[in-house]
Amino acid sequence: MRAYNNPNRLPFFPTPYPGESLYSVLCRYHVRSGNATNRKTILQLFGVFGSLCSTLLLPSMLNCLKSWVDAESGINAEYIFRNNTAYSLCTLRNYHDYYRFFPNGDFSVPTFSKKDYCWPFRQCLIRHPSNKLRYCPACAAVQKKLYGEAYWQILPQLDGVEYCPIHQTRIATTAIGSRDLLYTFHPADIVIDSTTPSYPDYKSTWYHSSHTVLFPELFVNMGKAISHLRDHLSSYGGIWFLLNKYRYSYEIGNRFWQSKENEREKLFGNSPPSLVCWLTNKNNDPFERKYLYFSDFTLSEHAMMISMLSSSAKTFFTE
Ligand SMILES: [Zn+2]
Repeated sequence: MRAYNNPNRLPFFPTPYPGESLYSVLCRYHVRSGNATNRKTILQLFGVFGSLCSTLLLPSMLNCLKSWVDAESGINAEYIFRNNTAYSLCTLRNYHDYYRFFPNGDFSVPTFSKKDYCWPFRQCLIRHPSNKLRYCPACAAVQKKLYGEAYWQILPQLDGVEYCPIHQTRIATTAIGSRDLLYTFHPADIVIDSTTPSYPDYKSTWYHSSHTVLFPELFVNMGKAISHLRDHLSSYGGIWFLLNKYRYSYEIGNRFWQSKENEREKLFGNSPPSLVCWLTNKNNDPFERKYLYFSDFTLSEHAMMISMLSSSAKTFFTE
């Protein structure tokens, strides 16, 4: 068990914006603190010199939360879990609700270790394969207008999110990779202002960046599906909810998918991923033997499954 110093009480702490990554909140603290070095801010925040990487998507260093905010502020560990991390998506692998991290409902004292959240997270391959900080240019413009500053959102950092589910514009990529996040604050407001949106090539576990141009509709729906999963999957009951939905949507979905044969060819060529094998399987008993198979899907595979089984993510979740 790592021993932490108790950091001193911070003079202020920025209120997290909707969908903002914890890393982004810490970046905004760094800017406002006026500290001359990243090191000084990290020591102030954590009491020890530690990496910032995991704060991009995971509930990291929340043991320090008590020295960041007042208990009365309403910002407790549960709030950060829900609003400022992608942790709820780990229920794709582990159907235990994340409330297990808060014994006796005390959200001020999370009890988890790094392996509790890193392992299921990696299993789902949730981080975008470009491994860069990403953003929606239209969202950034809205944030500037509403809050006077842009911030890093969680959604664009996830595998399968190639289009903004709100603006239906392509997600842009910055030059800042995950290693650049280790001990450095890169505030979105500064980075985005000095960045020309770029859309470089990359290869995911199953799709290329060119697919996102060929099939905008599919990828917009995938973005919507992932957004919905992040907001609701945990309260739906995790992976089991999805498996039941797949079972329910199969009949309609299979017809929809069959009508997309051309897209399927272009998208997967000769090496179809597991879900395409399943969808094209002529076996009359598609669910019984494959039931557990779905639990091996990555986040982006689930998103595509949802988009392929229904004409829209909204239909899938509401029907
Ligand atoms: Zn947007």
